[in-house]
Amino acid sequence: MDLRPTQSKHLVTGKDGTRIYTVNPKVWNAHIKSIHSKHNIPEWYMQPSFKWLYEHTKIGYFPRGLAIEKAKEIYVIEGGEKDYTLLAHEYGHILGHGHTNNLVPNLMNPIDSMRLTDGDKISDRFEENFREYYEKVLVPHERNRALPAVIALGMIAYGMIG
Ligand SMILES: [Zn+2]
Repeated sequence: MDLRPTQSKHLVTGKDGTRIYTVNPKVWNAHIKSIHSKHNIPEWYMQPSFKWLYEHTKIGYFPRGLAIEKAKEIYVIEGGEKDYTLLAHEYGHILGHGHTNNLVPNLMNPIDSMRLTDGDKISDRFEENFREYYEKVLVPHERNRALPAVIALGMIAYGMIG
């Protein structure tokens, strides 16, 4: 992995030794492109129809994180360090889980907005492994994000927006 150590910043180490790093967006985008061109094995979400979907709906297909199972390393693009679902998804790879089919709304779906259920309880294991980081960073962030949604729902209910 050529992202470490000059190109990335160490964020936290979990109880099991898994380390999470953030990467500058410019370096990240170049890195993802080089992986795909080097190996010439586009995943389904990189294929033209899904690119079309992204361009027209903004449903994300472009990877924002990657996990190296053997090295127990997780890399996410800067800004992804507060994205609980993204981090739990990458930790799922560390635990040996692959991607689910594109129609299965599971945490291990490569598309962010499809990560709705978590039958394997990966997020519980993530919370346990990164307890302090989860409580100090992710919980307050989720709270901040939830509040505007409640206000927005209220506004819809009162017919102010919609
Ligand atoms: Zn993944």
